[in-house]
Amino acid sequence: MRGLENTVKELEETKTHLTERVHRLKEEIIFLKTLILRHSNCECVGVREYITNRARYLTGTGMPQLPLPANGGPTASATRT
Ligand SMILES: [Zn+2]
Repeated sequence: MRGLENTVKELEETKTHLTERVHRLKEEIIFLKTLILRHSNCECVGVREYITNRARYLTGTGMPQLPLPANGGPTASATRT
């Protein structure tokens, strides 16, 4: 049964890590939404492209074009392909 106990331990650790990650991602979503709203009335091309793409995606008329911010966060280029 030792193997099973180790598995349980590992899974609990994984769960803890994932829970932390979800929490951080939720915070990031809030941050990004705030960022977008702050730019909704200006001429930033990246933000406008994002909003356009997102609107298209949400209305089902296109695919989302924005790459996920893997490391660069909101400052990463939105034109990356
Ligand atoms: Zn702006």
